Amino acid sequence: MTRAFVGLGSNLGERERFIRQAVEEMARMPRTQLVRVSSLYDTEPVGDQDQPSFLNAVAVLDTELKPRELLWNLQLIEKRLGRVRARRWGPRTIDLDILLYGEMVIEQEDLVIPHPELENRAFVIIPLYELDPELRLPGSGQMVKDLMKTPRKRGSVRYKGKFWF
Ligand code: ATP
Ligand code: CA
Ligand code: CA
Repeated sequence: MTRAFVGLGSNLGERERFIRQAVEEMARMPRTQLVRVSSLYDTEPVGDQDQPSFLNAVAVLDTELKPRELLWNLQLIEKRLGRVRARRWGPRTIDLDILLYGEMVIEQEDLVIPHPELENRAFVIIPLYELDPELRLPGSGQMVKDLMKTPRKRGSVRYKGKFWF
């Protein structure tokens, strides 16, 4: 079993419903247990700012799926939830990113773990901090609680409420 952290984001339609459905589907993935989900956070879009704000959360999974199998399963869930692959960083019903997969460091063309933008994104760091402040990132060796100390990384992320499931 490997502990993995998955980032969820939605900024189209009923955002909370998409997050909820994605969590339910992740809990049904083969050889995987859903451990916990962070609270929900409201986030101003970064990059392409001409789009609705995001609802973000992070889920903790214990899984026997290999990283690539996990990626395929997450992409399947994105498809089922009606994600249309339009422009990168554009609006979407649901986005599921593998943030961390145990201690593993992977740098392949179509799979990079830890997620390359993790340390730059307050909407990832804040829910990770809520889940496990002592969590250490493989590669850089940084602790999540130390990443929280950099003020610019806290950005425009607003606590939206607990996630119940
Ligand atoms: P970002 O990755 O900056 O958050 P995005 O989520 O909008 O951008 P997508 O269009 O969802 O990007 O994904 C583009 C590709 O990223 C996917 O086809 C996938 O192969 C690749 N990818 C690389 N590393 C990961 C990862 N850790 N988790 C999910 N997808 C990844
Ligand atoms: Ca993403
Ligand atoms: Ca993605």
